[in-house]
Amino acid sequence: MENLTNLSVIRDLCERYQFSFSKGLGQNFLTNPGICPKMADLCGVGKDSGVIEIGAGFGVLTNELAKRAKKVVVIEIDHRLLPVLNETLSEHENVKVILGDVMKVDLLRIIEEEFFGMDVFLCANLPYYLTSPILMRLLEQRLPLSAVTVMVQKEAAKRLTAKMPSKEAGAVTAAVRYYSDPALLFQVNRGSFTPSPKVDSAVIRLSVKKKLPLTEKEEERLFFLIRKAYNNRRKTLVNTLSLRETKEETASLLTSLGISATARPEELSLENWLSLAKLA
Ligand code: SAM
Repeated sequence: MENLTNLSVIRDLCERYQFSFSKGLGQNFLTNPGICPKMADLCGVGKDSGVIEIGAGFGVLTNELAKRAKKVVVIEIDHRLLPVLNETLSEHENVKVILGDVMKVDLLRIIEEEFFGMDVFLCANLPYYLTSPILMRLLEQRLPLSAVTVMVQKEAAKRLTAKMPSKEAGAVTAAVRYYSDPALLFQVNRGSFTPSPKVDSAVIRLSVKKKLPLTEKEEERLFFLIRKAYNNRRKTLVNTLSLRETKEETASLLTSLGISATARPEELSLENWLSLAKLA
């Protein structure tokens, strides 16, 4: 396929298929030729492994993934893109396009049916309106993914990869750190897309942990406590978390775990949250 980052190729595809970009679906396609090869190189995929992509667009990243992986499955919600992808991905026999909403498709079934015996990676330039819901869905389902490499808005990237404790950390940071080891790989200027979004982006990689320290019940409690605390992030923990009947009892319990009763959620490490989740 001709260079899919070339603006005149993109314009020609838009004209021939009567395609116009949908803002609502977060359609900002990559036009900087350096980005997709770099993402595909860094996402971990190899000749014996499989890769899931979310949101094909015109297939610019899909093409790079197909050159490196044994098999690519890409989930795209916009049916208008199917005939375009039929043309732009025609060189590759190892690509399957699934028309669907990533928030609704059964990803575990796709992994089991399409990638039997393979290590599976996820690599995508995410539609920005769905960044956190998609990542939480991937992680909470404990999908057997080796790593998740995604392009997200720069601010989101900072929050998702923030250290704990830190002022930048939020509820999503704690969840991401519980399930994975996150890293910010590189930043991407807003001019690297068409149409150009209002903000810059960054590529992050979440190396998914194979073993998690909590039982399912403790995990439920972990996310309940994190959400409760971060919904009131300016308040002290003793005021938001009713861990015991009285505030005094809650305060001394926190202290016994090495957590200051007047701490705010951003002052807690992941280990602090784990010790709270393990409390009966
Ligand atoms: N991969 C292409 C690229 O890098 O140029 C396109 C990336 S664009 C930021 C996001 C893509 O996700 C669009 O193709 C859009 O139609 C698709 N998309 C949006 N919402 C989706 C959803 N809920 N499920 C699957 N795909 C979705």
